[in-house]
Amino acid sequence: MAIVAGIDLGGTAVNYTLLDSASGRFLVEGLCEHPALSTQGPDVCLTQIADGLDVAAGRAGLQASDITAIGLDTPGPASADGVLSAKGSTNFVHPAWAGFDLRGGLAARLQRPVVYLNDGNAAALWGHTAIFGSERPATSISVIIGTGTGGGVVVDGRMVGGRHGFGGEVGHVLIPWRSIAGLEELRPPCNCGRTGDLESICSLTAIRRTLLPHFLWRYPGHPLEGVDAAAAAVRVRGLADRGDPMALDIFRAQAHALGLFIDQMVNLFDPDGFLIGGGAVEASQTFRDWFVTEIRAGMPVQREEQVLRIELMPDGDTAGARGAALEAVRVFVP
Ligand SMILES: [Zn+2]
Repeated sequence: MAIVAGIDLGGTAVNYTLLDSASGRFLVEGLCEHPALSTQGPDVCLTQIADGLDVAAGRAGLQASDITAIGLDTPGPASADGVLSAKGSTNFVHPAWAGFDLRGGLAARLQRPVVYLNDGNAAALWGHTAIFGSERPATSISVIIGTGTGGGVVVDGRMVGGRHGFGGEVGHVLIPWRSIAGLEELRPPCNCGRTGDLESICSLTAIRRTLLPHFLWRYPGHPLEGVDAAAAAVRVRGLADRGDPMALDIFRAQAHALGLFIDQMVNLFDPDGFLIGGGAVEASQTFRDWFVTEIRAGMPVQREEQVLRIELMPDGDTAGARGAALEAVRVFVP
């Protein structure tokens, strides 16, 4: 029996799963989380990861020594082989992280082989496998809506990593945003320098920076009026879930942006389906159903034979760790 671990290192927490590669069964039920302490730099954080792995193994009734290989995923920017950007990153602010070889550092610390994926790719790989299986080579495109917009492209069962590790960077694909009702006058900025890409509309950052100021003034006396932008932005999803018209305007704009993005991907890949995940859709079933209906409403007319499959990401909070574990099996288990 070969046990591999999936380790999802976020800005504040490390999330673990263990996978029995022979049966394909995940051995840790639900979320197994450990504080990341990433603000204290690589040395402390790697120790945290190793400690948490012992805890996760214990929960599955195993020793850490039973684990033969590791899949690691983190938010970027990082190289395809897990070297963090020398320019730093939102989630790894300690100066010692700049240019740090996260994959190599963890392999040295744990004395085991480690494979690296960015968090969007890892979640996409899990969602793809959960929905389409691994028997038949299917094609899917995933969009993960969080602080930014990540995702991944799987073509015929293989993740598109890209030459430099930027494959499946769905957030920075430009979309014709002026065709979205209500956004005609906007020039939505993205941190990458582009105007009007998917992340510039379809992310928590976009709500805070662009969509909330844009829609709020139309609703005088709204409860978010005068609230600090960052605090207000995180409340929009909950308000939308309870039917608040201003919050629904924001999510409708995001859904229509997704509709335009999906339409481009249909014409490029003619895929088996799309997966949507992230904090934006961690909501009630009613809201999730409404959101998918709005995505479809935002799309241009499709060819009759292209009946689109749009699914929501299963097991959203553990998707990254599960995808990282699947990648470790693919790479290290013969
Ligand atoms: Zn961008």
